[in-house]
Amino acid sequence: MKNNNNSHTVVIGWLYPQLMSTYGDRGNILVFKKRCEWRGIKVDIIPIDQNTKNSVIQSIDLLFGGGAQDLEQNIVMKDLQTKKRNICSHVDSDKPALFVCGAPQLMGEYYEPSVGKRIEGLGIFAMKTVHPGPSDDRLIGNVIAKMTNQTMLASDSLPLSTDYIVGFENHGGRTFLGKKATPFAKIIKGYGNNGKDGTEGVMYKNAIGSYLHGPLLPKNPFIADWLIEKALSIKYNKDISLIALDDSLSQMAQESILSKMRITE
Ligand code: GLN
Repeated sequence: MKNNNNSHTVVIGWLYPQLMSTYGDRGNILVFKKRCEWRGIKVDIIPIDQNTKNSVIQSIDLLFGGGAQDLEQNIVMKDLQTKKRNICSHVDSDKPALFVCGAPQLMGEYYEPSVGKRIEGLGIFAMKTVHPGPSDDRLIGNVIAKMTNQTMLASDSLPLSTDYIVGFENHGGRTFLGKKATPFAKIIKGYGNNGKDGTEGVMYKNAIGSYLHGPLLPKNPFIADWLIEKALSIKYNKDISLIALDDSLSQMAQESILSKMRITE
């Protein structure tokens, strides 16, 4: 069923907007909102912070978490561990989620910050992240990656013209995926998860973890559509595909980035 009516609502949970919003990650929320509104889908954005009860997570259709510095991650993780464990059930019940940079580090098994003690994660993603310390180089720069995840590639919401994603990364943590983890994409230019094994991000069920800021979704809006479609299909218990939007501007932006970095289709 093609969706273009105002009887549907997506409830978006935004994890710790005050503590976790680096490098324009708020732009991802704007993309979710506008792409729903342009199709007549209502959007309710719920900021989730230390005052939000665990039970509120149950009402969320689509979850988003952005980047953060180590200090903020520590504060957030204490709250996640004690009061937000429903995030695990959200992901386990196939509801979609997007976690960027600092957020997926907290959804993995653990994050060892630059200074201080190991922070235990929620264990949603089978991966570990270690920051080598303040004197080591951060992994910074523009990124081009090719989507490799079969769940994403099989979807009708992806453009036929490209399976590239573009973005910007800035992280000290090096993430290593466990045997059971599936990467989100394969690095063409940039560092990705650790600068060594060519993997970028992680995917478990309908949850995506990615190091790409930029923010990610304005540059790669088909990812937003994929997540919105999953949210609606699960909420209304039927297959819903979104009507197409005019994405010529973002396509031109992506083509320009690819050609600047000398990638030709
Ligand atoms: N603090 C983390 C790191 O440096 C995350 C940084 C970020 O979210 N940009 O690895």
